[in-house]
Amino acid sequence: MGQSNNNPLSIAKKMGHEIHRDNSGNQTIMIDVKDTEALVCLNCGSEDFSQVINLRKLSALHPKNPTKQDNITAAQRGFVCIKCGTGNKIGTIAEYKSLHKKDE
Ligand SMILES: [Zn+2]
Repeated sequence: MGQSNNNPLSIAKKMGHEIHRDNSGNQTIMIDVKDTEALVCLNCGSEDFSQVINLRKLSALHPKNPTKQDNITAAQRGFVCIKCGTGNKIGTIAEYKSLHKKDE
């Protein structure tokens, strides 16, 4: 909590860059933010998302637990809009506009 100013992504954003990781999670490349397209919540148009994780505990008493200590792992579940709470409905601004043009 309260450490968002120190996270590398927000620092990169201040410099106008995003950090992207490959599947191994090791390599980072710098991409000019101008070369990217904003993705928004298809429900409300917000650009701000929060990461959703599920936490799972492996009990210290479980026979398959080699550490004999409680182990907590996090499983990435996707993204949720922090404005309206809609999960994993993410698209381009053009997609958002075409979706919301239909209310006539
Ligand atoms: Zn939303």
